[in-house]
Amino acid sequence: MNNNKLAIFGGTPIRNKPISYGRQCIDNDDINAVVDVLKSDYLTQGPQNDKLVTTLCNSFNSKYAVLSNNGTSALHLACLAADIHEGDEVITTSLTFAASANCVRYCGGIVKFADINESSLNIDPVLVEKKITQKTKAIIAVDFAGRPVELKKLKQICNKHNLVLIEDAAHSIGSNYMGNPVGSIADMTVFSFHAVKSVTGGEGGALLTNTPKYYKQARLYATHGITKSALSFKSAEDGDWYYEQQVLGFNYRLTDIQAALIISQLNKLQEFKQKRNEIVKKYNHLLSNIRGIKTPQYNVDDDICWHIYVIRIDEKKFGCNRKQLYEALKAENIITQVHYVTLHLHPYYRQFGNKKGDCPIAEKVSSSILSLPLFPLMKDDDVNDVVNAIKKIQNFYKRG
Ligand SMILES: *Cc1c(COP(=O)(O)O)cnc(C)c1O
Repeated sequence: MNNNKLAIFGGTPIRNKPISYGRQCIDNDDINAVVDVLKSDYLTQGPQNDKLVTTLCNSFNSKYAVLSNNGTSALHLACLAADIHEGDEVITTSLTFAASANCVRYCGGIVKFADINESSLNIDPVLVEKKITQKTKAIIAVDFAGRPVELKKLKQICNKHNLVLIEDAAHSIGSNYMGNPVGSIADMTVFSFHAVKSVTGGEGGALLTNTPKYYKQARLYATHGITKSALSFKSAEDGDWYYEQQVLGFNYRLTDIQAALIISQLNKLQEFKQKRNEIVKKYNHLLSNIRGIKTPQYNVDDDICWHIYVIRIDEKKFGCNRKQLYEALKAENIITQVHYVTLHLHPYYRQFGNKKGDCPIAEKVSSSILSLPLFPLMKDDDVNDVVNAIKKIQNFYKRG
């Protein structure tokens, strides 16, 4: 190979076209579903909203679903439904996107970060229990990379301490836990339909629950706090037009355009899942003999729909550090990402007293991970490009 000079030092990149860590998968069915809505009577909150609610409930074994304009607003609704107020404490992970904790802050709650388990990268139930105080009201557990958290243990903890279990399932749509779909297990489960997520509407979100109380509250807050349901009116109605604002809610509406796209995408979730998991298997196999790279491990009976493919780099064994690898890959036209910069160490969360050393495992993991491209439209050649680029970079630094 005459191409072993790294692109970052003026060599020829492994590929001409950049490949990103994630990408949507849109086909003609999706396009037609959206166009049909554009030609119809309703652009927002029409029949596609109703159909999506039914589809979500049926697909994920849930009694109720509340749609919203993004995953973050659905998390906010979950916190409102859990009755989080000023001074209430909520425990979550630090290895997550900001929204998993910001939703607590929107309600004035205090975020407590519990450390993760080093192999699953999910919040550690033992450490969660240590963080519980008189003020704790809820746990927001994040299914990192698609792997469900230890729901059984977390549910036991929540029952014991009278806490609400909110599952941030932005990564794990399509995953199952002990034979049950994510979305049917926690008190409330939140999905995101952002463009990079496994099922997308461009933007979008949903809250799933089996508890009528949570459903009613979440729905009320998603619609300005206004209800049109005569059964729940507090004042006397004086005509069919009557509606009532009962709390200060929000406009978290999802358009029918997005709802139609999400329904069309959900039809392909099993296909997406199979494709994603094949790529994970291929990566795990191809990367297994590269020194200094640890791949995500899973058991035969795990039923995961992988959302991101996160490797860990042992810099000494690999031959260069994470930043050098990231930048060299970028020059080879392979765009990776870090999921995530630990949340408790962001300036915003540091102001509450969070500091280095609070979540040592999450901190260590966060400084050594990289998400490689993973999306259903990836071809074998794309996977090979990524692996070959990593090998090329290692060879260069090992020689140097
Ligand atoms: C994407 C994501 C969210 C937020 O979803 P949006 O739809 O972007 O608002 C929340 N939590 C996690 C873990 C996510 O990855």
